[in-house]
Amino acid sequence: NSDLATFDPEIARVVNQELTRQRSTLEMIASENFVPPAVLQAQGSVLTNKYAEGYPGRRYYGGCEFVDIAESLAIERAKKVFSAQWANVQPHAGAQANAAVLHALANPGDTVLGLALAHGGHLTHGMKINFSGKNYQAIAYHVNQETGLMDMDEVRELAHQHHPKVIIAGWSSYPRVIDFALFREIADEVGAYLWVDMAHFAGLVAAGLHPSPIPYADVVSTTVHKTLGGPRSGLLLSRDPELGKKLDSAVFPGQQGGPLMHVIAAKAVAMKLAMTDEFKDRQERTLSGAKTIAQRLTQADLQEAGINVLTGGTDVHLVLVDLQHSPLNGQEAEDLLDRVQITVNRNAIPFDPRPPRVTSGLRIGTPALATRGFGDKEFAEVADIIAQTLLLGVELASGKTEGERDVVAAAETDSRLSQLRDRVNA
Ligand code: PLP
Repeated sequence: NSDLATFDPEIARVVNQELTRQRSTLEMIASENFVPPAVLQAQGSVLTNKYAEGYPGRRYYGGCEFVDIAESLAIERAKKVFSAQWANVQPHAGAQANAAVLHALANPGDTVLGLALAHGGHLTHGMKINFSGKNYQAIAYHVNQETGLMDMDEVRELAHQHHPKVIIAGWSSYPRVIDFALFREIADEVGAYLWVDMAHFAGLVAAGLHPSPIPYADVVSTTVHKTLGGPRSGLLLSRDPELGKKLDSAVFPGQQGGPLMHVIAAKAVAMKLAMTDEFKDRQERTLSGAKTIAQRLTQADLQEAGINVLTGGTDVHLVLVDLQHSPLNGQEAEDLLDRVQITVNRNAIPFDPRPPRVTSGLRIGTPALATRGFGDKEFAEVADIIAQTLLLGVELASGKTEGERDVVAAAETDSRLSQLRDRVNA
């Protein structure tokens, strides 16, 4: 019963099919990446068998001498990569890391202030039916309708009005650098903790291509699997080891039981990779690729078709396409790109006039393609394929209501998409 293909051919087939899908499409979901074999090997190792509740040197189980080494390496490397004084590598995922932060910094019923989900925030930043919105009094700030930028006047106003225990700075869908110093200033004015969730842009921070939140925030949370390109998991960092003690006990026993030692070992590998020149080069291509795509999608042909880029560009690894003035909606755009083997996700934009199932936006990210080795030339080609696909969609959608057309299934779509698909496969 030891071999997957022999014992469970159905699951073996899924793994192979997914491998083929990942190889034959252009993966542009901004939160995804490809891990290197070294990470896969650590994550697929016998360390998965080990229970190790507690922390290195302070476990509630015997036989932890080797996994202790893995966790200590992960902690020390994470501290080094991000110039932090404290790290916790146990959160199973980003959401667990975030639950531990609120567990440590606030009590149920306390007020927290975060970016609205519909304006680019994350579920764990106070969404109504998430733990963060159910257990805490969540107040939301927004982006400015004209500029698309976080409305820092509103952040200050709401902070003074509601006196939150925690102010949350971070996003799942926002294309610009955050003013961490200003968030710190506002937090200090009202005596709030400042928590930065850098899940999306942590890889850029590690490479020095994005300002670091560590000097400003009381605690920083991140996922390890987005721009960072490590195993699917979470990580907490702080410049304050005293606060770190509180955060440690919020992770275990506050939120979790046994840590996933195979994933922690893979995190250690990812942190070692994050110190290499190869990693820095990959992050540079990630960032310049996103800028290339933003430049192409802000050219006149797209503007004339009613397609824009939120905030007019990007400082990070993703571009947010604004389709609110175009007849093509987010769902159709996502489906059309899927037909040319480019995988993106539709995304509600701030003040979106269309329903959440349909949306007026697309989120396009470059981390996975940068990991595949894409540079300026390849990203310029991909940017043009995306532009041509969107223009085709607008042409097919024009003059018909959303109810009376099927842009993606239209007979003429297929032949025209096949030329674009050939460019992808080239
Ligand atoms: N924080 C932010 C800003 C995110 O974008 C995400 C994931 O999309 C998370 C946290 C949650 O991470 P996970 O999916 O690993 O729970």
